[in-house]
Amino acid sequence: MGGSAGAVDYPRTLAEFNAWFPDEAACLAYLARLRWPDGFACPHCAATRAWQLARRRKLRCAGCRREISITAQTVFADSHLPLMTWFAAAWYVTSQKPGASALGLQRVLGLGSYRTAWAMLHKLRRAMVRAGRDQLAGEIEVDETTIGASQPGSLGRGTFASEAIVAIAVEALPRGTCGRVRLARIPDCSKPVLTGFVAGAAAPGAVIYTDHWLGYSGLAEAGFLHQATSIAASGDPAHVAMPRVHRVSSLLKRWLLGTHQGATRPHQLDFYLDEFTFRFNRRRSRHRGLLFHRLLEQAVEADHVPIRDLIGGRP
Ligand SMILES: [Zn+2]
Repeated sequence: MGGSAGAVDYPRTLAEFNAWFPDEAACLAYLARLRWPDGFACPHCAATRAWQLARRRKLRCAGCRREISITAQTVFADSHLPLMTWFAAAWYVTSQKPGASALGLQRVLGLGSYRTAWAMLHKLRRAMVRAGRDQLAGEIEVDETTIGASQPGSLGRGTFASEAIVAIAVEALPRGTCGRVRLARIPDCSKPVLTGFVAGAAAPGAVIYTDHWLGYSGLAEAGFLHQATSIAASGDPAHVAMPRVHRVSSLLKRWLLGTHQGATRPHQLDFYLDEFTFRFNRRRSRHRGLLFHRLLEQAVEADHVPIRDLIGGRP
């Protein structure tokens, strides 16, 4: 049933979505498949058979008879909302091309409270970053940009309480094309912070293009092939020397202003960066249903990296 890409099954249309997930049991079965893609394996006795307990989010192991929660340590843990509501939210979020607002989600799902919609959105955004995600490779442009009060067009209304610095890394594909991106809010543009960001975002041996800022002077020592582009010497404006990273920067700013009216506090910016990254890196996905599938897949991954660990790069 439904569409597939390789081994991946997901609904392609709203009609298929509704047919796939008519009740809680169907949602649970889907989450169990995502959580144990190679088949169930009991964490206690390694038995490979289990059955779903009626009306509970648990499996019973056929070997040791212990109960194993399907949703523990996932985005859906500790939530009293029906999984059907969560699935509808995930579908809505991934089917809105520019992104979803809490108000829009509240209206579409008929949620009683704006706060509930807001909290769901933030949990789903957190799931958009995957702990074991692949590092960027090949040739990569890296730069920083500021998001905040001085941003043109914001007029100081509903904007960030203070300026935030965002580090951007984007794979440089031929003919000015962007590959995947990594973004992180960074505390400053010092050498340890920028080196840490690149080390977290890019695979060792990658070619890193930056400007001549001293904060990037530790990259060769950290195992990268560093190419500092001399803007002053070449006479090229920055956007010519590193066109991709500047395109990502302006897309990010436009998206923050357009979808979220720029209204977010600096610590929430992390979640918006995750959402932007998730969408940007999957912008060529032919089916929105695949985005839904990926989002749920990441939502059931137990070990999410605390967002603070992403700041300045992971160890
Ligand atoms: Zn067992």
